[in-house]
Amino acid sequence: MNSLDQHDQKMAFPELQRRRFLVSSASIAIGCAMGSFPAIGNAATVHVLPALPYADDALAPVISSNTISFHYGKHHKGYVDNLNKLIVASDFADMSLEKVILASAGQAEKSAIFNNSAQIWNHTFYWRSLRANGGGEPPAALKQKIEASFGSVEACKKELAAAAMGQFGSGWAWLVQEGDKLKVVRTANAELPLTKGQKPLLTIDVWEHAYYLDYQNKRADYVNAVLDKLINWGFAADNLAA
Ligand code: MN
Repeated sequence: MNSLDQHDQKMAFPELQRRRFLVSSASIAIGCAMGSFPAIGNAATVHVLPALPYADDALAPVISSNTISFHYGKHHKGYVDNLNKLIVASDFADMSLEKVILASAGQAEKSAIFNNSAQIWNHTFYWRSLRANGGGEPPAALKQKIEASFGSVEACKKELAAAAMGQFGSGWAWLVQEGDKLKVVRTANAELPLTKGQKPLLTIDVWEHAYYLDYQNKRADYVNAVLDKLINWGFAADNLAA
């Protein structure tokens, strides 16, 4: 659509234009979240479920379209719907997603707002941490950094697998940058590195809903298959460079 068309449409459909603005400002807020943190700016009055970055069967057979249909279509969507209900007419209503996360973190009476906002962020980040035909060798700049911090890519993957397996109950395994170093960390439930001054590079969801339909209780099989076949080193490299 060229700018003349957009101008005409704005004149003809001011309400449509407003809706588009709300959606695009929320998308920008989420887009910023994928880069360096803190990424602030747009007041996203309505949080939207970001589109999956691939078809729902793109990760099969490692992660089936059945798992994606529940994980993305029900769980991720549910966090978005819940958050929008929780923040109506509150101090959080006009905040970007990142601001909601930071403003609610660590406050017991805001735990529902924190949990839902952080889970929106975590899942958007998780989908981008995976790709069809992933795994393999990281891009050169990231590989160098991994080798400096862990000794080798294999050692980094082993630490990620150990963190994913060592998380008791629900949570996340992350590759993060802290200062000049890369580290592997794990977080429980909806917790995330953003509140700890760490820059997330990639994540693996180890909530049971991420793997139970495909792997049942075999979390290690899911984690190792993700690391070997789906992990998106290019996304981590982009985040490192951002
Ligand atoms: Mn999940």
